[in-house]
Amino acid sequence: MIILSVLNHNYTMCAMKLKQSTNLLYMLLFCVVVFSCKETATNDDKQRDKGLVDSLVYRMLDTVTKKAPLPKKVFKTFEGLADSTFIRLADFSDAFAYDMRYATDNNFLKTQVYDCAECYTRVKTAKALIKANKAFRAQGVKIKFYDCYRPNDVQYKMWKIVPNPQYVANPVKGSIHNKGGAVDITLVTLDGEELAMGTDFDFFGKRAYHDNFDLPKQILANRKLLKETMEKHGFWSTRTEWWHYNLSGASKDKIANFKWKCDN
Ligand SMILES: [Zn+2]
Repeated sequence: MIILSVLNHNYTMCAMKLKQSTNLLYMLLFCVVVFSCKETATNDDKQRDKGLVDSLVYRMLDTVTKKAPLPKKVFKTFEGLADSTFIRLADFSDAFAYDMRYATDNNFLKTQVYDCAECYTRVKTAKALIKANKAFRAQGVKIKFYDCYRPNDVQYKMWKIVPNPQYVANPVKGSIHNKGGAVDITLVTLDGEELAMGTDFDFFGKRAYHDNFDLPKQILANRKLLKETMEKHGFWSTRTEWWHYNLSGASKDKIANFKWKCDN
């Protein structure tokens, strides 16, 4: 009787363990099925989503490139504006190039002195620049600006960094830049490639002089094109800076401290 009872107990234990093992096996199988289904579904979802995104991008590109061309920029006109008014050149023409060095630290001061890169001049200067640029463009080049009108406060800022009249005009006396009649420029091709002028902008030395003819022929030809065209359109140059041009009569204008907004 005792033997039978022990045997029965062992059998029951064995059956229970077997059942537990079987349950564990079923659970494992269930997990494998569920996860493999989930993985398949995720891949399907990914492919479907990619298709949707591709189609949306295509439709958006299609709309941008074909159905909704960018509106043509409308330029301001000089009508009704006094010659002495300060204007932003880019509002009147998009035919120029810009590299406003004093709005970066890539200048001889190694300091940014403008809050943003803008080219402002008086109306009469802008009119002459647009005419000169038209003549340049007919020859496959255009004006690129390094500096334009410079508020007197900025002149003080520059003077504080380099208080030497050999490099910076004394702000009390002011420069024609402060009067809205001077620009620092070079020439670039219509694709924006700079013409060789022999030195960088604001290189202080003999190599930048107009009367230094000890330079390669191409450089002399480029400077000649710049100088002659600017002179034909009412500007005069200074002997020591190939990039600097003043509008005739602008030295008689008042020093200004008009400041532009930086949200254009
Ligand atoms: Zn200058």
